[in-house]
Amino acid sequence: MKEETVNRLQQISEQNLIDIEQAKEQGRSVIGFYCLYSPIEMAVAVNAIPVPLCGTRNDPIPTAEESLPRNLCPLIKSSYGYGVSDTCPYFRASDIIIGDTTCDGKKKMFELMAHFKPTHILELPQSQNNPMAIDFWRAEIENFKSVIEETTGTDIDDDKLRAAIKLMNRVRKARKALMDVNKVKPAPMKGSELLEILFRVGFMAEKEHGILLMEELTSAALNSTLHDDEAPKRSAKRILLTGVPVGLGSDKIIHIVEQLGSDIVAFENCSGYKQAFIVDEDKDPIEALAEQYLATPCSVMSPNEGRFALLKEMVEEFSIDGVIDLTWQGCHTYNIEAYLVDQMLQETFGITSLHLETDYSESDTEQLKVRIEAYLEML
Ligand code: SF4
Ligand code: SF4
Repeated sequence: MKEETVNRLQQISEQNLIDIEQAKEQGRSVIGFYCLYSPIEMAVAVNAIPVPLCGTRNDPIPTAEESLPRNLCPLIKSSYGYGVSDTCPYFRASDIIIGDTTCDGKKKMFELMAHFKPTHILELPQSQNNPMAIDFWRAEIENFKSVIEETTGTDIDDDKLRAAIKLMNRVRKARKALMDVNKVKPAPMKGSELLEILFRVGFMAEKEHGILLMEELTSAALNSTLHDDEAPKRSAKRILLTGVPVGLGSDKIIHIVEQLGSDIVAFENCSGYKQAFIVDEDKDPIEALAEQYLATPCSVMSPNEGRFALLKEMVEEFSIDGVIDLTWQGCHTYNIEAYLVDQMLQETFGITSLHLETDYSESDTEQLKVRIEAYLEML
C-alpha cells in the first residue's frame, strides 16, 4: 500500500481512541464485544460505540498466565491479559463487556473477568439444527436487549433496531466488497493489507466513516491506485486462510506466506468472510437478528455445516490453489474440525489443506516456514 495510506490507517486508529474518549465524555456508552454471535446492532441501536475486544497480541499473555492455564488458547489468554492488566484502552473504555458461551475456555475465562468488569454472557446453543435452539436464542437476544437498555438508560424499539440493522448491513456490504476485490487475478491486495484495513476499520467509532473508507480503498484497489506501482505481479499461489480468527499481532502465517512469494487472497475466518452476512431487513428485527447470528458458521457449533458451504463457495469464487487451516493451540473445536475440512476439500476440489497449530509467539516461525514452503511447492 502507498505509505500515505498506511499512515492514514494508523492515524485513524489514534484518532479513534480520542473520538471514543470524547464520545464518552458526552455521555455515549461503549460496549465491548468478544464474539461474532452477539448482535452488534443492539449497541448501534442506542447510539453506543461497539468495540471488538478479542486479544490478538502476545504481550499480555504472561500476565494472563498468572491466573489462567498456560495450555489455553492464546486468543483467550491475550483477551484476559489485556483486561486484567488494564492495558487495552478499548477494554478500559467499555461500560460493559458482552461474551457468549462459545468454547469452554472462553466461557470460563469470562467468569474470572466478571470479577473486575461488568459482564453479560449470552448463552449460545451448541447446534443450529435443533428446532428449540432458535426459540432459546431469540429469548437470549431479547434479554440482551434489556441489558443494553439498562446499561445505557435508553429504550430500544423496533424502529431503532431496524435502522441499526440497515446501517450494519451497509458496513458488512462494504467489508465484503473490499474482500471481493481479491477475486481478481492477480489479487490487487496482499492478505496483510486487507487484514490491516479490516482490523483498523473494525474499531472506528463512526460506522459511516468506516463505510466511506472501505469504499474508497475498494475503488483504489480495483483501479490499481492503492500502491505506488501497479498491483503486485506475483507468481503467487492463491491461498485461502480458514480456521481461527487472526488480527494485527497474530498474523505471522500471513507474513510467512507473503515472504515465500504467495498470497492469502481470502479469509474465511471470523476476521473475514464469516462477517459477510446480511440480516433480513423485512422481518421482525429480533427474529431476524436471532436467525442470522445463530447461523454464524463457527466450529463451536455441532455440526457446523455452514462452514463447509462457505468454504466451497469461496474456493470457487476466489480461484483458490491451496487452503491453510489455522488452529490456535488449545482450540479443540477448530483442531478436530480440521479433519473434516481437509476431507471435504480433497473430495470436492482435490485440494489437500495444510493444517497448522500454533500460538501468538514467534518461537516456531522457522518450523512454520519450512512446512508452508513445502506446501506451496506441492501445489
Ligand atoms: S472463532 Fe467462533 S467463538 Fe471465536 S470469536 Fe469467532 S465466532 Fe466467536
Ligand atoms: S480460537 Fe478456539 S479456543 Fe480460542 S476462543 Fe476461539 S473457539 Fe475458543
